[in-house]
Amino acid sequence: MAEPAGTANLVEVFSSVQGEGPHVGETTLFVRFGECDLRCAWCDSPGTWKPAKRCRIEIARGTGKRVAVPNPVALSALLGACERLELGAHRFASLTGGEPLLQPEAVAALAPALRAAARARSSIRSTSASCASRGARPRSS
Ligand code: SF4
Repeated sequence: MAEPAGTANLVEVFSSVQGEGPHVGETTLFVRFGECDLRCAWCDSPGTWKPAKRCRIEIARGTGKRVAVPNPVALSALLGACERLELGAHRFASLTGGEPLLQPEAVAALAPALRAAARARSSIRSTSASCASRGARPRSS
């Protein structure tokens, strides 16, 4: 399996369940990107508007225990972190923010890598959506 090249500015990576939209309650692995230029009036995450100095990565699924690593994070290391969080056990992966599309190269490299890694382990479907497009239907693999 080819490892994704490049880096990304990230805020946090963690395993949880989707809390909004049509897939509420589904197991989801969240990759929250740093920086956003949209300034939505309803934003509940203004702390993500600027690039993050450090990214908090959950170290084991369901523990809530996180380790802080400096940004930018290598995508190959991020993929490894997602696999340690049992990527294939999730129904969805959510690339959220912040605004992931401010880092299009990272999204373009990471999304297929997550999909390929998950396929090797389960029937995960992967969704790639910015925070502003919450509720968008996932693309089936
Ligand atoms: S896109 Fe998301 S992070 Fe950015 S301002 Fe809107 S709600 Fe906040």
